Amino acid sequence: MDLREIGEFGLIDRIGREAVACPETMVLGIGDDAAAYVATPGRLQLASTDMLVEGVHFDLALIAPEQLGHKALAVNLSDIAAMGGAPRQALVSVALPPRISVEFVEAFYNGLKGLARRFGVNLVGGDTVATDGALMISVTALGEVAPELLCRRSGAQAGDFVAVTGALGDSAAGLAWLRRFGGADAFARPLIEAHLAPLPRVAEGAAIARRAHSMDDVSDGLAREAREIAAASGVGMRLHANALPLSGALCDAARLLDAPPLEFALFGGEDYELLFTIGRRQYEALCAEAPQLRTTVIGEVTGQSGVVELEADGKVVELPDRGYNHFRKA
Ligand code: ADP
Ligand code: MG
Repeated sequence: MDLREIGEFGLIDRIGREAVACPETMVLGIGDDAAAYVATPGRLQLASTDMLVEGVHFDLALIAPEQLGHKALAVNLSDIAAMGGAPRQALVSVALPPRISVEFVEAFYNGLKGLARRFGVNLVGGDTVATDGALMISVTALGEVAPELLCRRSGAQAGDFVAVTGALGDSAAGLAWLRRFGGADAFARPLIEAHLAPLPRVAEGAAIARRAHSMDDVSDGLAREAREIAAASGVGMRLHANALPLSGALCDAARLLDAPPLEFALFGGEDYELLFTIGRRQYEALCAEAPQLRTTVIGEVTGQSGVVELEADGKVVELPDRGYNHFRKA
C-alpha cells in the first residue's frame, strides 16, 4: 500500500499500536506533543542516539525490514548496555522516500517492537517525514543506571585485564558472505544473523559494570574500540591474537572468503559485544558471581599511553588505527 493512501497520521496510528512494553514507567506515549515517563528515583538517566542511512549503514537488498527495525534499536540498546545501564524508552524518527510502502514501515516497526518487548523498552515517540533521498532512521534510547555502576570508557588502569563478551568478527564476516554468496548457506547463518539481527548485551553490561573499570561496545571493530578506551583512559593495551574469541563459523567462512579471520575480528565492526577492562581479582569475582557470562580475556592494560599492540606468536606489532570512520577513507 502507498504511504499516500493512509498519510502521516494514518501511519503514526499504526506505529502506535503495541508500542508499550513496560506500562509501569509510562505516563504518556505516542500521540501527544511529548512523551512523559517515570524515572526510577536515585538512578542516573542515560540518553543515546544513532542514525542509520540507506546506502551507508544498510542495503535494502541484503536486510529485511523486520531485521532493519530490530537492528536500528539493537545498536542503541548496545550503547546503553555499554554504560552498565538498563534501556527503558525509545524514540524513532524516519525519513521515508515514496518507494517505501506501508507494509515495509509496519514490518520495520514489528521488528523494532519485538526487540523492544524483549528488553521491556517502550516506544514513546518519534517523527515522520517524507524525503526524495535515501531512507533514514534515527533512534534515541533512554535508559538508567545506578550512579555507582556507571561504566565509562575512561576508567582503564594499568595492569587490568582486557576482556570481551561473545565472539568477534562474526558480523563483518556475515556481511562479506552476504555480499559475495548471498544468504542461502545454512552454515553461514549464524554469521549473517550476527550481522542482520545482533542482540545487545544488556544483562551482560549490567553484570560487568559491577566490577569493570571501563567498558565500550564493539561497534567499529575491536582495534578502534580498544584505541578509544586507551585514549580516554591515558593507558595502552596489549592484545593477544591467539586469545581472541573466534567462532568456528567465522574460521570456516574466512577460508572461503580468502581473508584471515583475525581481519574480521580486529577491524570488522558491528559485533555489538562489550569490551571492558577489569582488575584481575575483580575478573575472578565476576566469573564467580555470573558464571553464565561468556567472556574471554584477550589482553592487558599497559602504561604506554594511547598505544594498542597486538602480540601474535611472540611478535608484537602496533595495531593500525583502522575501523569504520565516516569522514576518512578506509
Ligand atoms: P508533533 O506535530 O507534535 O511533532 P507529530 O504529529 O509529529 O507531533 O507526532 C504525533 C505523535 O506521534 C507524537 O507522539 C510523536 O512522538 C509520535 N510519532 C511520530 N512519528 C513517529 C515515528 N516515526 N515513530 C514513533 N512515534 C512517532
Ligand atoms: Mg512531529
